Amino acid sequence: MPWLTKSRFMAGRQCRKRLWFEVNEPHEGRAPDTMAMRQGRAFDDCVRDLWPGRVISRERGMPAAIAETTRVLAAGDATVVHQPAVRNGNFAVIADVLRRDRGLPELIEVKASTAVKPEHIPDAAYQTLVLRGARVPVERVLIGHVNNAFTLEREGDFPGLLVEEDITAQVDAMLPALGEQAIDLHRLMSARETPVIAMGPQCTSPYPCPFIARCSQAAPPPDFSTHRDERVRAGRVFVDRSAATELQTASYPRAWLDFETIAFAVPQVMGTRPYEQLPFQWSLHTESAPDVVQHAEYLAIEDFGNFDALSAALLAAVPREGPVFAYNAGFEARVLGLLARHASAHAVGLLALRERLIDLLPITKRAYYHPRMQGSWSLKAVIPTIAPELDYAALGEVQEGEAAQLAFLELREGAIDESRRVALAKAMLDYCRQDTWALVLLTRFLAG
Ligand code: SF4
Repeated sequence: MPWLTKSRFMAGRQCRKRLWFEVNEPHEGRAPDTMAMRQGRAFDDCVRDLWPGRVISRERGMPAAIAETTRVLAAGDATVVHQPAVRNGNFAVIADVLRRDRGLPELIEVKASTAVKPEHIPDAAYQTLVLRGARVPVERVLIGHVNNAFTLEREGDFPGLLVEEDITAQVDAMLPALGEQAIDLHRLMSARETPVIAMGPQCTSPYPCPFIARCSQAAPPPDFSTHRDERVRAGRVFVDRSAATELQTASYPRAWLDFETIAFAVPQVMGTRPYEQLPFQWSLHTESAPDVVQHAEYLAIEDFGNFDALSAALLAAVPREGPVFAYNAGFEARVLGLLARHASAHAVGLLALRERLIDLLPITKRAYYHPRMQGSWSLKAVIPTIAPELDYAALGEVQEGEAAQLAFLELREGAIDESRRVALAKAMLDYCRQDTWALVLLTRFLAG
């Protein structure tokens, strides 16, 4: 019978069906990388640099890692042990850090979040349960997370990035009930039948479940009968162009703007903080007179972090006056504010540009609904209903924002050949250009 690992325990707490799938009908192959996984690995690496110690290898599998951990802990000469692997009967964990602080044994769970979250407590509690059950002493339990007040002032200088919070009391309060739950979840792994569980909030919280597509196939169509928007409940096409008069009367020249950004748990650009949304790309469509449309774009890879250059190019491309449309424009407003701080020579122009932003999202919400939007006014839900020729699925590798971020990282960090580099950069530019062109078409549609 397989062991109940920490990730299985957390999967089972989220949804019993998820745990059963992960053990009995897992997806084939390795799960694709996500930005959250990249952030977690980057922060783990940073913590290993901050706390030098013994690192237990996972390369030869869990039994070898457990044996190595047992030897290292028995020798007792390592103050800090990273990735210790411990087993107690059917239960096994790979913890993040075991540390002896003035003789006091501590378990530290490292999280790339900027605060302790409720789901971190059972995560650390299960590790504590297994460690203590295996006679590995744990006196204090801490979460080591990202300090969002940290600013990178010197290259590679990260001591202030990590903060520790003591969660020993919360963990101890949870432990009595956890043993029973662990036994129950371990038994569930070998159940013959798939648990019957309907989709619900647990599918996305606290973590996105990897089986959403599988469960959605078997799920009944979504029920919008209690949706708070009457148009969604009615399930009919709704167009009210009188709710979009500002688009009919908008002056020329007009512009449509979209940024692509990336946020690092471990800052990579001098003067920036963790998780600041740093732009690496923009797309701008302009219309100087009806149907006289031009396009400009910018993509920073090697030059990423040169916000002066990115801002100068944007201010040179954008018309000196007239409305600048964006979708969910609060995001573009925040990026322009950030650029004004980091590229102070262009602050006046950037802040003036911010004042000209017009948000198409609330206008679209007032003026339009199509049942194929399924209760969502996200741009990717709206556009196929008004411009089906703009097929995001046909774009290739980059079809949404996270894919653009991963492509950016591959271009910036990866040793890739020239043909891959060219293809990836083209996919990023195509995607961002399509987003602003979609906004042009949406504006024309709503203006009527
Ligand atoms: S998609 Fe939802 S119901 Fe299905 S396994 Fe995941 S959490 Fe459970």
